[in-house]
Amino acid sequence: MSGILAGIRLREAGIDDFVIYEKAHDLGGTWRDNTYPGLACDVPSHVYSYSFAPNPEWSRRFSPGPEIHRYLTRTAEEHGIRERIVFDREATACSYQDGRWQLEFADGSRDSVDFVITAVGVLHHPNMPEIEGAASFEGALFHSARWDHSVPIEGRRVGVIGTGSTAVQIVSAITEKVETLTLFQRTAQWIMPGQNPAYSEDEKQRYREDPAAIDHLRTELDLSFTRQFSDALIGSESPGMKRIEEMTRQHLEAKVLDPELRDRLRPDYRAACKRLVVADGFYEAIQQPNAALVTEEIECIEPAGVRTRDGVLHELDVLVFATGFRAHDFMRPMRITGRAGKTLDEAWDPTPRAYRSVSMPDFPNFFMIVGPHSPVGNFSLIEISEIQVGYILKLIERVRESGSGEICARPEATDRFNASIREAMKGTIWVTGCNSWYLDANGIPATWPFTVQTFRDEMAEPDWADFETIPAA
Ligand code: NAP
Repeated sequence: MSGILAGIRLREAGIDDFVIYEKAHDLGGTWRDNTYPGLACDVPSHVYSYSFAPNPEWSRRFSPGPEIHRYLTRTAEEHGIRERIVFDREATACSYQDGRWQLEFADGSRDSVDFVITAVGVLHHPNMPEIEGAASFEGALFHSARWDHSVPIEGRRVGVIGTGSTAVQIVSAITEKVETLTLFQRTAQWIMPGQNPAYSEDEKQRYREDPAAIDHLRTELDLSFTRQFSDALIGSESPGMKRIEEMTRQHLEAKVLDPELRDRLRPDYRAACKRLVVADGFYEAIQQPNAALVTEEIECIEPAGVRTRDGVLHELDVLVFATGFRAHDFMRPMRITGRAGKTLDEAWDPTPRAYRSVSMPDFPNFFMIVGPHSPVGNFSLIEISEIQVGYILKLIERVRESGSGEICARPEATDRFNASIREAMKGTIWVTGCNSWYLDANGIPATWPFTVQTFRDEMAEPDWADFETIPAA
C-alpha cells in the first residue's frame, strides 16, 4: 500500500528515477499475505482508500480483503506503478557510504541510490509462538497470515490460537463450515460492534456519477470514525473512551446469553487498551453448538491436538496460529547501517525511535513510511502514509533545491520529540494495564499519543530547524 503510494507521489513530483523493490512475487503487502477466511478491514473502505483514487465500487462499509487487494492492484496498474516494481527481490542490507546508499539483495544483486524510502509495513513478520510439540502435530498447522488453502476445513476439527482481530474474523467466518471449532483464548478481548451493510447499486451509481459524494462521505467518516477513536484513545478518562467502554460492555452483555461463557469472554482490562476489535458475528459464532472456548492454558501440542494444563487433549485436524506479528521489527532483519558505521540496532537500542516517524539522525536521506510512533490503530493507515509521503517529498525536494547532499533529523530534535511522546503516553488508554503489540520491550506504546488531527497539523510542513543538511561533497 505504502510503496505504491510512494511511487505515485514521486512521479507526480517529477521524480521518475526510482525503483520499487518487493521481496514477494506480487504487490499488496498485508492484503497479499493475508488470505484467511473472513479477512476484511475494520476501517471503513471509503477512508481506507487513497485520497486520489476514490472507489465508488466498494461493496460494503468494511469491504473484504480480496477486494482491497484488487483495489491496490488496480490503482498500481492505472498509475503505471506495477512495471516499476522489481518483484522477488528481497533487500537484505542497506548501508550509507560516501554519500550514497548501497543496497544488497538476497539474490546477490546490488544497487546504489541517493535516497531510500522504506515502505515495509508494521504487521509483517508472523509471530510463531514456541509451543512445545508443535512439530509433532499430525494435522495441518499454519499461521493466519500464511493460510494454507490446500487444506480443507469443511467438516473438520479446527483449532484457533489467539483472540485478536484476526482470530475474531476467522472464527466468525468458519464456525458454520467446520465440524468443531476450538478457540484457545489466553486473554479475552473487548469487541466493538461493527455493522457492515452492503452499498446498494443506487448508492454506487451516485458515487460513480458524483465524486463529490465520496468526498462528503469521507468527511463524515472522518468526523464520526477517525476523530471519535483518535480523541478517545489518547484520553483514558475522556467521554469518548467511556462511550467505547459502554458500547463494548453492552455488546457482550446483549449477545452472550450464558453467564458462565460471558464471564470467560469478559476482559479484565479496559476496552481499547489492546487494539480494539471491531466485528459483528463473533459472539454468535462462539455460541454455536459446534464451537468451544478454551481458557485453560496450553501445555503442549501433541500429534493428535492441543493439550491444556487441565490434562484435556483437544483433538484437531487443523490448527491455526492467529498469534499476531512481531510489530517492532519494522525494516529488520534488513541490516541497515547509517553514517560512520552506526547500525539500526544500535540506534534502536533499547527501542525503535525516530523523528516524527519518518527520519532518524545518522541515517541521512533515509525515510520511513509507518515508522516508529506512527498513528497506527483504529484509523486509516492509508491516510497516515499519505501524510508521511507528503512530508518525505518535502525533505527530498529540500535536498534537490538547495544542492545539499544530505538531510536527516537532528539528534536533539529527535530526543525532544521522543520525550514529548513518552510524556503524552501517560494519559492514553494503552498504558492502563494490558499486554498488546502496541507496547515495546519497555512497556511504552510504539504508537502516536496525540490526535490524528495533531499528526496532520504537525506533518503539514517540516520544521526545518529540526533537520541538519550537509552540503554535497
Ligand atoms: P494480535 O492482535 O497481536 O493477537 C494475537 C493473539 O494471539 C492474542 O490473542 C494473543 O494473546 C494470542 N497469542 C499470541 N501468542 C500466544 C501464545 N503463545 N499462546 C496463546 N495465545 C497467544 O494479532 P492479530 O489478531 O493478527 O491482529 C494484529 C493486528 O492486525 C490487529 O491488532 C490489527 O491492527 C491488525 N488487523 C486488522 C484487521 C482489520 O480488520 N483492520 C484484521 C486483522 C488484523 P494475548 O492477548 O494474551 O497476547
